[in-house]
Amino acid sequence: MLPEETLLNRYTIIKDNLRENNLDAWVTFRYESRRYLTGFTGSAGILVLNPEPILLVDFRYAEQAKIESLKAKIIEFNKPYHKYLKEALNSGSSKKVGFEPNHLTVSQLRELKEFIGEVEWVPVENLVENCRIVKDEQEISSIKAAQELSEKALNNIINLLKPGVKEIDLAVELEYQIRKNGANIAFPIIVASGERAALPHAQPTSKEIKTGEFIVIDFGARIDGYASDCTRTFFLGKPGEKEVEVYNYVLEAQRQALSIIQAGEEAGLVDKAARDYLKDKGLDSYFGHGLGHGVGLEVHEAPRAAIDEKTILKEGMVITIEPGVYIPGWGGVRIEDMVVVRNNGYFNLTKFPKEEWVA
Ligand code: ZN
Ligand code: ZN
Repeated sequence: MLPEETLLNRYTIIKDNLRENNLDAWVTFRYESRRYLTGFTGSAGILVLNPEPILLVDFRYAEQAKIESLKAKIIEFNKPYHKYLKEALNSGSSKKVGFEPNHLTVSQLRELKEFIGEVEWVPVENLVENCRIVKDEQEISSIKAAQELSEKALNNIINLLKPGVKEIDLAVELEYQIRKNGANIAFPIIVASGERAALPHAQPTSKEIKTGEFIVIDFGARIDGYASDCTRTFFLGKPGEKEVEVYNYVLEAQRQALSIIQAGEEAGLVDKAARDYLKDKGLDSYFGHGLGHGVGLEVHEAPRAAIDEKTILKEGMVITIEPGVYIPGWGGVRIEDMVVVRNNGYFNLTKFPKEEWVA
């Protein structure tokens, strides 16, 4: 359940925004928006701000919505929902109604226009996302708890890093540890070894890990709806010169990026700090993705820390810093930490050691 003060703050920001956009009301079908603005955790429902919050849910969620959403008026509907939505919108004589263009299907919009035609439907991008981009301390503590739990889980399976163990077994055991410790996985766990470590988003297979291979493990937990995201790369056996070099360059690229993080910095320049360092080492062409991303109710959300990203970092943003080098046919290294941006720097939520990578 979200504290009343938190909800009122969020409504105020959104309502001010609606007014600035000359909108009378706003409608969302999206889980994250509903959850952020009401605390309701059900998987289906329609939230209307007219401008006061009205949550339309079906029979399955009526009780749950009443318990979880203290400030919203709850209306139980029978399908189809059109009549109820029409009422919710007309009760405040709404004319211009905003919707989330990135989270409404073409057919949903067609239905809205067909059945609730007397209003003008206006696409409004990133209304809630812009609000979610800065986390309050309660959100940060959920993300922190998720990170702590997932690190504990990784610690519990580290003894499995032995030749002959399958990637999928590592992933399953790690998931089991996360769930056993009271959370859910935030996303399907990535375990990629050997040449497959060069695939940034490889799904675990039945391939066995071998001596002389890198093993990239990218994983996260979810607590109170909030995700964590972390990557550690291990090496089985004694690494050669090139392995040590690449690992240390990736680690140093991360340090370079971290060293400039603070409120007021441009997100794109944080990416540039890591990228320039790898360029200096001749490895930038193997770093094909952005340096990082925001983490919150979604594993990937605003802001992006990527080339030319102009977003200015603010106190309370949570972002990942995850440089990687992926060399086809050879393998790859990625090291991902998650930090909270602070006025005078950052706080690293990731504590799992990076220096002890040889298993
Ligand atoms: Zn990750
Ligand atoms: Zn990530």
